[in-house]
Amino acid sequence: MTQHQARKRFGQHFLADDAYTEAMVRAVNPQASDKVVEIGPGLSALTAPLLDKLDHLTVIEIDRDLAGRLRADYPPERLRVVESDVLDVDFTTFGTGLRVVGNLPYNISSPLLFHLMPVADAVIDQHFMLQREVIDRMVAAPSTPDYGRLSVMLQSRYAMTKLFDVPPEAFDPPPRVVSAVVRMVPLAADRLKASDEAAFSTVVARAFSQRRKMLRRVLADWAAVVPWDDIGVAPTARAEELSVEQFVALTDALVAAEVLQPKNQ
Ligand code: SAM
Repeated sequence: MTQHQARKRFGQHFLADDAYTEAMVRAVNPQASDKVVEIGPGLSALTAPLLDKLDHLTVIEIDRDLAGRLRADYPPERLRVVESDVLDVDFTTFGTGLRVVGNLPYNISSPLLFHLMPVADAVIDQHFMLQREVIDRMVAAPSTPDYGRLSVMLQSRYAMTKLFDVPPEAFDPPPRVVSAVVRMVPLAADRLKASDEAAFSTVVARAFSQRRKMLRRVLADWAAVVPWDDIGVAPTARAEELSVEQFVALTDALVAAEVLQPKNQ
């Protein structure tokens, strides 16, 4: 088969070091009947070892040439190839009990993580290779430099563990940054959550629009109706100091005060 020319616009950096491929597959620990969806299979670095363990695998690949290769390499009863931009894929069509895996194209990592959040109830776990800097932000604790909107939004929905680093030399062509692998397990239905998830997202985004400013200033017109003492947050606190639980309490207070309209009303 002809050599594939890596396409920059699709963030193509192919894993070329078996030690890291094996470590990633070990982390996933696939069982034969698992319903696994791999995002960005590329030249099959993960696809092949995953298929060694699985009865069936679904992959989503945007690159027409790579999707064609995969169809030529594997029969459809073993590998279903969805040729699409993953951001256009409706994950509800895959059913429930999904395990999502991928060495992700770094240029779409945040939008993809947000695309998957609404289907978290249908997911068992997600294992992703990403830019290490993004994973550091995903798992960051309050009052640390990496803590921000991405941390709060994802931590409100998933338990996340950074597993191991992957150096640029493990890829062909090598990216400019260090990568890492993260495990994301959706939190149970009885997790602490805001009364309105759209409102939660709005409040977190507004609070972090100026992360170092005092909340009473960033929230401006909303600040007057917040029962600061009741929710255990100082009006002089900054967004970067608030835990997920405090963001939930702040959101619920704003929804109760009818400053934020609940969705569909
Ligand atoms: N999994 C392979 C590996 O580990 O070597 C390839 C990883 S490479 C970093 C990312 C893969 O995602 C490429 O195959 C690329 O074509 C694909 N890709 C990029 N953007 C995509 C998108 N929006 N939707 C689906 N696949 C995409």
